[in-house]
Amino acid sequence: MRLFAKKDYLCMIYMDRTDASRRIEELRAVLRENSRRYYVDNAPTMSDQEYDFLMHELEALEAEYPEFLTPDSPTQRVGSDIDTPFSDNAEPLTGKDFVKRAHRYPMLSLGNTYSIEEVEEFAARADKLLTDPFTYCCELKFDGTAICLTYREGKLVQALTRGDGVQGDDVTENARHISNIPQQLHGDFPGEFEIRGEILMPYSSFEALNAEREDIGETPFANPRNAASGSLKLGDPEEVGRRGLWCTLYHIPAQSVPFATHDEALSKAASWGLPVSEHRRICKDIAGIRAFIDHWDGARKDLPYATDGIVIKINELSAQRLLGYTAKSPRWAVAYKFKAEQACTQLLSIDYQVGRTGAVTPVANLDPVQLGGTVVKRATLVNADQMEALDIRVGDFVYVEKGGEIIPKITGVNLSLRKEGSILPSFPEKCPDCGTPLQREEGEAKWFCPNADGCPTQIKSRIVHFMGRRAMNVLAGDATVDQFYDAGLVRTPSDLYSINKYQLVSLEGWQERSAQRFLDSLAATREVPFERVLFALGIRFVGETTARDIARHFGSMDALEQATEEQLLEVAEVGSVIAHSVFQYLSDPRHREEIARLRAAGLQFTSSAPAEAASNALEGKTIVISGNFSISRDAMKELIASHGGKCTSGVTGSTSFLLAGSKPGPEKLAKCAKLGIPVISEEEFRSMIPQDSALPAEETQLSLF
Ligand code: NAD
Repeated sequence: MRLFAKKDYLCMIYMDRTDASRRIEELRAVLRENSRRYYVDNAPTMSDQEYDFLMHELEALEAEYPEFLTPDSPTQRVGSDIDTPFSDNAEPLTGKDFVKRAHRYPMLSLGNTYSIEEVEEFAARADKLLTDPFTYCCELKFDGTAICLTYREGKLVQALTRGDGVQGDDVTENARHISNIPQQLHGDFPGEFEIRGEILMPYSSFEALNAEREDIGETPFANPRNAASGSLKLGDPEEVGRRGLWCTLYHIPAQSVPFATHDEALSKAASWGLPVSEHRRICKDIAGIRAFIDHWDGARKDLPYATDGIVIKINELSAQRLLGYTAKSPRWAVAYKFKAEQACTQLLSIDYQVGRTGAVTPVANLDPVQLGGTVVKRATLVNADQMEALDIRVGDFVYVEKGGEIIPKITGVNLSLRKEGSILPSFPEKCPDCGTPLQREEGEAKWFCPNADGCPTQIKSRIVHFMGRRAMNVLAGDATVDQFYDAGLVRTPSDLYSINKYQLVSLEGWQERSAQRFLDSLAATREVPFERVLFALGIRFVGETTARDIARHFGSMDALEQATEEQLLEVAEVGSVIAHSVFQYLSDPRHREEIARLRAAGLQFTSSAPAEAASNALEGKTIVISGNFSISRDAMKELIASHGGKCTSGVTGSTSFLLAGSKPGPEKLAKCAKLGIPVISEEEFRSMIPQDSALPAEETQLSLF
């Protein structure tokens, strides 16, 4: 056993290697899923601070146990806003499939911290590494979505989103409709250059947009960042223009234009007519940085747009070049993030809500209070343990925080304001919906209603999930599911396929046309690819990304149904928790029967044929890759697949060979030695496949955010 301390937490946890590996896997799954919700769906369900803490926990664990570090870990990658294969059939979430274009210089992220001590460490490191005198440029950290603009001969010619950092969506037409992005520059601008910054939605536009969305029954955006990001990717540039977006620019890649300092580059950009914030300051030392942070921690509340921190950059470009980059961020900059905003208000009552998996969540009804630009009326109390830890009473004055999520969180109680007669809430013993006694499994923080097949809320939620836009994309909402349920038409998703037009038009509010529309949309689900069908089943811990990985690995439900837990573990990013959950789900005869009914209804339970193979040189080979290659790991996996090979994540007795790049995992090497599995180099591997089809080595470029 070893004592493991998480840097950003005040707690310490005892962990051995097995615990660490399990926790790493859990953290990666949670971070990948939430990254997708945040960047692609623009609908985060956890706060940024919570996400950052989990990321820091993963970083610390990977540093402590480097044998578990993989290049595809979320700690090594920039979160991607590119909506990948899931939008094959469904209407793209953002309304338009954008052309993807490669960035000239990769767009990276920023290292971030919530602690001033870590900013001091950053400054101390710079002091140690840089011999020439240098200064810091402190700026606001604008909370929007990143953009990269290219100007040629003074004209705006391209606007790309960050995408996955390597390629972004071409949103040039939309950018032309953002009023403060100049189409034409003036002054002594260079012939061609790139400039990067942020697209923001000011609070005033955000409130107007959300009011409009609520009026027409659409879900409001969680925060201005999500609204800006969603709006920038609309299919209609005129509508983008109406959304009141705003741009601020803060970085010219050094290769693009030669300047001595970052500050000089920004001043020049402003002189050409580009929108550059004047809220920046050159600081000589940590005292200056601290003063800038302290000032803006308060003053930012008066800004008309959202900021979530301060960015501290080494100002001299020669020093920046010396410090360089990590895989994900520049070493010459750090973001200090402000803690989530808090408000204090009275707790009026508590509701207990049952979710799709039967988990019961306490939700607080609050005296409405203004927080982070919106009025907050409800907040989550997370679970019974959290309620107990807070020692909360109905009638208490509580602290509420809002991060990126729609439902804010209660983080504390102001005991000095506790009145006599405040009521200690008791967590229900029975399901608030169906009355079944609640259960709590060992190690679980949540109470569950075990009546999965009889609890109306769970049944309806599963059907709502199945029909959801990112699952089967059926044109119907929660109210329709209520109606179907009440009329006794559905109890499981497969029942949807037995509903006929006659039954529909006999329901209140249904006409011939709406019935036909619904049936057409249901018929279209027969074309939805297997990976989304798998996600739609709602298996615990199987989000969209995991469903895709599993579907691609097994290729069909038949193969998946035959899989053992050990075989499930061979799927990249699937660990014991997910493997167990999938195995359990598929072992349940009721689930097998439901799958059989969905199959009979004509849904896809086989992945469509992969792209035509380049050769069958690797047919029948099960390959594990480890280390870094001349191409990305994803490209290497594709290369293997295109020659008929199969990639798995763990070395087992059935592994044909380990393909080892530079710095392969010592664990995998040791396992190969133990099992007598050959280890081959990239060069040897390339000689196994036809030469003309081998992908060219990717150029390693200098990274810039
Ligand atoms: P980031 O937002 O922490 O910082 C990097 C970005 O800051 C840059 O890419 C740039 O777009 C922006 N930026 C704003 N002002 C800037 C300035 N003056 N100079 C330079 N850059 C500036 O990093 P990220 O990679 O965009 O996003 C990761 C963060 O997103 C996480 O740290 C987390 O807080 C949040 N996130 C939240 C969830 C969630 O579920 N809530 C999920 C994924 C990511």
